[in-house]
Amino acid sequence: VFAHLVQAPEDPILGVTVAYNKDPSPVKLNLGVGAYRTEEGKPLVLNVVRKAEQQLINDRTRIKEYLPIVGLVEFNKLSAKLILGADSPAIRENRVTTVECLSGTGSLRVGGEFLAKHYHQKTIYITQPTWGNHPKIFTLAGLTVKTYRYYDPSTRGLNFQGLLEDLGAAPPGSIVLLHACAHNPTGVDPTIQQWEQIRQLMRSKGLMPFFDSAYQGFASGSLDTDAKPIRMFVADGGECLVAQSYAKNMGLYGERVGALSIVCKSSDVAGRVESQLKLVIRPMYSSPPIHGASIVAVILRDRNLFNEWTLELKAMADRIISMRKQLFEALRTRGTPGDWSHIIKQIGMFTFTGLNPAQVSYMTKEYHIYMTSDGRISMAGLSSKTVPHLADAIHAVATK
Ligand code: PMP
Repeated sequence: VFAHLVQAPEDPILGVTVAYNKDPSPVKLNLGVGAYRTEEGKPLVLNVVRKAEQQLINDRTRIKEYLPIVGLVEFNKLSAKLILGADSPAIRENRVTTVECLSGTGSLRVGGEFLAKHYHQKTIYITQPTWGNHPKIFTLAGLTVKTYRYYDPSTRGLNFQGLLEDLGAAPPGSIVLLHACAHNPTGVDPTIQQWEQIRQLMRSKGLMPFFDSAYQGFASGSLDTDAKPIRMFVADGGECLVAQSYAKNMGLYGERVGALSIVCKSSDVAGRVESQLKLVIRPMYSSPPIHGASIVAVILRDRNLFNEWTLELKAMADRIISMRKQLFEALRTRGTPGDWSHIIKQIGMFTFTGLNPAQVSYMTKEYHIYMTSDGRISMAGLSSKTVPHLADAIHAVATK
């Protein structure tokens, strides 16, 4: 009965790793997947995560019963505090509802389905370009996806005017997906002043902010700095949604741990929103997994572990920043034609190099360097040892 099926294409991002794995070359380099690697090119489990897991193992009272539909309640409270700030008025006034979800993706999906069911506007505006999964997540959640201008290829920076025009022209009440920090794939974020203008415009038109926070702490190295845009929107007393992921900032990729928070106008509304979120979650996966959320809760509740985490997080962010400098310098030394300053200006895990699909394909064929066809490279996949190889390849395509 399935004989009529055609072979589906590989996921454009995860497919890069599939191709990389098949390549026998000893110099091959995977800059496709957005996962942190050490200077030795190895995946990293944070020390604080190891310690938290040890604590969990030593605690013989721990059981493996189902969590409630909303997940681990302590994790939810701590996650809201982490993203909104410990002194957030919305938390104090008890008008935030937070549910544990399956990492950032699951949080976006649950938020999308909730909006499709209960919010009067069914259109969500996403940045052009954006993370490849966004349009699929929201379309399948039942929303209509439209884009707003974000990136200017000529400056390799923000198209702020285009952004304001497009959001200004969106029908009142439309949902707007905002990357909280470290925009994927461009690495281009608005300044705080620009965020303030975006906030004013969105609030004046009643646009609903839906923040995707997949990189808190990864952009600047500071958890509070990276959460600032969200906190500005919460400080004005209006509503918003926030999808949080612990994949990158705690290195918990495969644990699939994240949270969806919905900031409401009153505690009464927040309670009813939560009751409806449970109806979205129950038939989808019933309840979320316990292990990852328990690790996060151990770290966030303990002052020493929390401080240790911030240091490890900063070290990851700093290594990425250092890779940007090294790559920029390597191109300068080679006299590679073109302006490559965007490599050090863009932030977060990725550099949107500006390389076109033909150049990317040449680099893969001739240099065994793998990246998404839009020219996005994961800086976390680079090391001091591999920077020269990448710089040689970029130099080759730029002078071809
Ligand atoms: N949003 C953005 C912008 C991302 O880059 C990612 C990860 N690549 C996610 C959400 C979700 O990741 P995860 O589901 O692993 O938390």
